Amino acid sequence: MCKSAVNLALAMSATGKDTTPAQERKDVDVLLIGAGVMSATLGAWLQDLEPDWSIEMVERLDSVAEESSNGWNNAGTGHAALAELNYTPQKADGSIDISKAVAINESFQISRQFYAYHVQKGNLQNPKSFIHTTPHMSFVWGDDNVSFLRKRFQALQKARCSAVWTTQKMPGRLQSGSRW
Ligand SMILES: Cc1cc2nc3c(=O)[nH]c(=O)nc-3n(C[C@H](O)[C@H](O)[C@H](O)COP(=O)(O)OP(=O)(O)OC[C@H]3O[C@@H](n4cnc5c(N)ncnc54)[C@H](O)[C@@H]3O)c2cc1C
Repeated sequence: MCKSAVNLALAMSATGKDTTPAQERKDVDVLLIGAGVMSATLGAWLQDLEPDWSIEMVERLDSVAEESSNGWNNAGTGHAALAELNYTPQKADGSIDISKAVAINESFQISRQFYAYHVQKGNLQNPKSFIHTTPHMSFVWGDDNVSFLRKRFQALQKARCSAVWTTQKMPGRLQSGSRW
């Protein structure tokens, strides 16, 4: 196996020469730069697949998940592609292209398997602390958009992962007094 030696300090002079004092250098198999969800996920995979590898994660901020992965900095939805209308563009002939939605939904199911696996292994203690099922509603107005929503619904019903899509409800009208 070819192990890449990474200088954690990554101090390079203008000439590209490594100027880190030898005593500050540390060789690792994998260096994860940034402690967001991507590094956490990749690190967890690698630790499982290659338990003997040394893995180091570095973060420039004071704690982990303070940027995009912080729950207050993103919309907080698992992208199952059920509600995100931009994943199902309407083609020039008026039909709906659901390929992106299907691919994203499949990835989302793999994410759920990943979390379940780590709960079973005891690496994640309490799934309720980070994942919840929440009803979503796609809201559109205007005849064209309502027509799009209905066609989208019908197209997704025919998709391979129909077990997931059947949780969708046919678009309907909001009644006055409807609760959000
Ligand atoms: C407004 C918004 C809404 C979103 N909504 C959703 C959503 O609903 N559902 C969804 O699935 N995704 C959503 N996303 C996307 C999702 O949040 C990101 O794809 C995901 O958090 C990215 O994770 P990351 O680990 O790549 O990046 P980050 O969480 O940003 O982590 C990168 C880390 O790297 C650190 N870093 C950067 N440079 C260095 C360096 N040189 N040295 C050390 N550390 C460094 C940063 O400080 C940061 O902590 C949304 C994103 C945004 C911005």
